[in-house]
Amino acid sequence: MDIEFLGKLVKAVGVSGYEDEVAELIKSEMEKYADSVEVDTMGNVIGLKKGNGKGKIMLAAHMDEIGFVVSHIDKNWFIFVSPVGGINVKTLISTRVIVHGRSKCYGIMGSIPPHAKKEKKELSIEDIFVDIGAKNKEEVLEKGIDIGSIITYDGDLKKLSGKRYTSKTMDDRIGVFILIETLKRVKSPYDVYFVATVQEEVGLRGAKVSGYKISPEIAIAVDVTLAMDVPDVKEHKMITELGKGPAITIMDRSVIGNRKLNSFIEKIAEEEKIPLQKNILMRGGTDAGSIHLIKEGVVSTTLSIPTRFVHSTVECVDMADVENAVTLLVKSLERLDSFVV
Ligand SMILES: [Zn+2]
Repeated sequence: MDIEFLGKLVKAVGVSGYEDEVAELIKSEMEKYADSVEVDTMGNVIGLKKGNGKGKIMLAAHMDEIGFVVSHIDKNWFIFVSPVGGINVKTLISTRVIVHGRSKCYGIMGSIPPHAKKEKKELSIEDIFVDIGAKNKEEVLEKGIDIGSIITYDGDLKKLSGKRYTSKTMDDRIGVFILIETLKRVKSPYDVYFVATVQEEVGLRGAKVSGYKISPEIAIAVDVTLAMDVPDVKEHKMITELGKGPAITIMDRSVIGNRKLNSFIEKIAEEEKIPLQKNILMRGGTDAGSIHLIKEGVVSTTLSIPTRFVHSTVECVDMADVENAVTLLVKSLERLDSFVV
C-alpha cells in the first residue's frame, strides 16, 4: 500500500464545500488506474473501472473534512469561527490550525484560560478564538483573511507502534485511500464507480447527486467508525476495536445495511479468512444513508475502518484493518456474480 500517498491525502485541504485541493490530488491519482475520471457539478470525483456490462456498482468515500470558516475578526486581532461539520469543542484548545487567506498561515486555537473564568460553564465554540500572532487587525486583513476564509487542522501522518498510524482527516481520507487501492487491484464483471464525495460532513450531500447520476444497482460506502477500545469503556460499549478487521454496518443513524448484501460480504470474509466486525452506531451516518434512497432505492451498506479519537487531529487507525478492507472489497467485487439482489 502506498503510505506516501496516504501522507499527501490526509494533508490536502478539503473542508466541506472547499474540496478543490484534495479533489485535484485524488483525480490525478485515479487517472493512473481508471478507464475514465470526471468531476461533477458539486465537485465529486468519479473514477470508472469498466467491467463487461453486467451492471453498476458504486463505492463512495468522502473526501471532505471537518473544519471552520472565519465568522468574525475582532477589533484587536483575534479570529472567531463557525464550525463546518461535527466539531467537538473539547478537542480544540491548544490545537494548531492553518488559516487560508491569500496564502496559508498558522494559527493557534485558544480560549479564555479556565482560571480566569468566573462561572464554570461548558466550553462552546463561541469561546474559541484563533490567534495567528498578528499585532493588529490590519495584519490579519493584509493576509487576505476575511469572513468566510476557511481554517483547517494542521497535522501530518505519523506512524505509531506496529501498523498503527495517526493523523488529522483519517475520516475519511482513509476511505478514499481504500477506494484507490481497490481501484488498482480490482477485476469485476461490473462497471465499478469509485467516488470521492464532497460535503458528507454537513449532511451526506455529495453522495446524493453523484449516486443519482451513476444510478447504481449496488453501493458500498467506505468510512470510519468508532473504535472505543480504550481505558474505562465497558466491553459492550466498545462498538469496534482496532486491528480486528473492518466493520460491516448493521445500522447507523442514516442507513440499515442491506441484509442480503451484508450476508454476501460476510460470506466472502469467512471464505477468504478476512476478519470482519459488525458496526452498530447510534450517532452519525455515512454516504450510504443518501445513496440507498436514490430513485427506486439502491442496495447499500457501509464498510468501516475502526478509528480511535474520531473528529480530532489525532485520528488513529490500524493499517491491518485497511489492508483487510481492500482485500474484502476486491474479492467481493470479483465475485458479485454470485450475488442476487
Ligand atoms: Zn466520515
